[in-house]
Formats: sequence, structure tokens, C-alpha cells
Amino acid sequence: MHLLSPKEAQALFPLMTVDDVVGAAFLPTDGQASPSDIVQALARGARNAGVTICEDTRVTAIRVEDGRVRGVETAEGVIQCDKLVIACGQWSREMGRLAGVNIPLVSVQHHYAITEPIEGVTQTRRPFAIGPPHLLQGRGRGLIVGGYEPNPVAWAENGIPEGFHYTLLDPDWDHFAPVMELALPRVPALQHTGSSSS
Ligand SMILES: Cc1cc2nc3c(=O)[nH]c(=O)nc-3n(C[C@H](O)[C@H](O)[C@H](O)COP(=O)(O)OP(=O)(O)OC[C@H]3O[C@@H](n4cnc5c(N)ncnc54)[C@H](O)[C@@H]3O)c2cc1C
Repeated sequence: MHLLSPKEAQALFPLMTVDDVVGAAFLPTDGQASPSDIVQALARGARNAGVTICEDTRVTAIRVEDGRVRGVETAEGVIQCDKLVIACGQWSREMGRLAGVNIPLVSVQHHYAITEPIEGVTQTRRPFAIGPPHLLQGRGRGLIVGGYEPNPVAWAENGIPEGFHYTLLDPDWDHFAPVMELALPRVPALQHTGSSSS
């Protein structure tokens, strides 16, 4: 991690005001990656190592005997195993319940806005800044504002709704307003930029 002066930080992210900035931390090895490419690479590596990947195969029950996992039941049949790794993201809590295990995990709502293109943001020079307003990130030729509120609101504490895939939640502008209020003076260009989605 490099510690930067406000001027050095502004050189990396010229859209940002730094009058009230004391210093900045810069992680040169942080970056942006394509999630689908990473997943494909991991899947290929796993298959090359002999792993079988069963897509669209829902686990409906976990078989436990004498306190040990013996297999999982799926719509396609039973898969026997003596070790089970639960990596179900926000569904992990429900999966753990199938084996009587309490996984202390709850989803929280995150809210962000994607702006229209802003001059100075290019595909090759996309800024990424954390710290009030909690996230400013280049997306295409615009910015993503927000995403990690300091006061997140829990969601679906009693279970993820059936069929909730690739779905966005309804906007909560009152909750988002404090993030936007911090972002506007930090990146004045936002005052003249519309939002393309949220
Ligand atoms: C809109 C949005 C934007 C995001 N942006 C970013 C970003 O820019 N950068 C970043 O780092 N992260 C981002 N994230 C967060 C990131 O997507 C998650 O942290 C990550 O996907 C978690 O990976 P995971 O493998 O733990 O879980 P997931 O990717 O959620 O995978 C869990 C899998 O388990 C499967 N599953 C659930 N129940 C069962 C069952 N009963 N049987 C079989 N399979 C089951 C699900 O179908 C799913 O495929 C974003 C998330 C969202 C929603």
C-alpha cells in the first residue's frame, strides 16, 4: 500500500476534490476483473483436476448419519460424500439449516447509482475510490456511486424469497441520500450528471 499526498491522489483521480483530504492510501495491485471470465477459468481448472460440476442442480436435503455428512439429495438424485463445503453465498444459512447447523449470516441491502458518461472517465482510466462516500468506481465511461453504506439494512432475515435470482431490490432513496450528499462535493461533476440506473 502506498500512502499518497492529496495532490498525488488527485493526479490518479482528477475528478476528485482534495481540499479536505489529509492523505490517501493507494493499492496498486487492486483492479477490476470480469467475474464471468474468472468463474470460467476456475471451472476449467477444476474440471482439469477431475471435478464434476453439476449446474442447475438444487440440493434439497443433506443426509447426516451419526453426526457425519453422508451425502446430499438433489432433484437429479443422491450424491454421496463424506465432506460437504457450503459455499452458497446468501443462501448458505438455509443450506446449513438442512444439516441442523446455524450459519450466522444475513444479507444486507446495498444501494448504488450508475451515472451517465462523465468526461475524463475512460475505459482505460477508470477511477476507484473507497472512503466517504464509501465507494466511487468507474463503470464504462461513467461512475458507480455508493454500494457500501455505513448503516446497512438487513434483508430477507427469514429466508431468501423463492426464485430471487439476478434481481435488484426497489430503490430506497432516503437511505441512499447520505451517500449521495458525501459524493457530490467529492466529485462535483456528479452535480451535472444524470443516473442511468440504480
Ligand atoms: C448487484 C451486485 C453487484 C455486485 N458487485 C460486486 C463487485 O463489483 N465486486 C465484488 O467483488 N463483488 C460484487 N458483488 C458481490 C459478489 O457478487 C458476491 O460477493 C459473490 O458473488 C459471492 O460469491 P459466492 O460464491 O460466495 O456466492 P454466490 O455467487 O451467491 O453463489 C452461490 C451459489 O449457490 C447456489 N445455491 C444456493 N442454494 C442452493 C441449493 N440449495 N442447491 C444448489 N445450489 C445452491 C446459488 O444458485 C449460487 O449459484 C455484487 C453483488 C451484487 C448482487
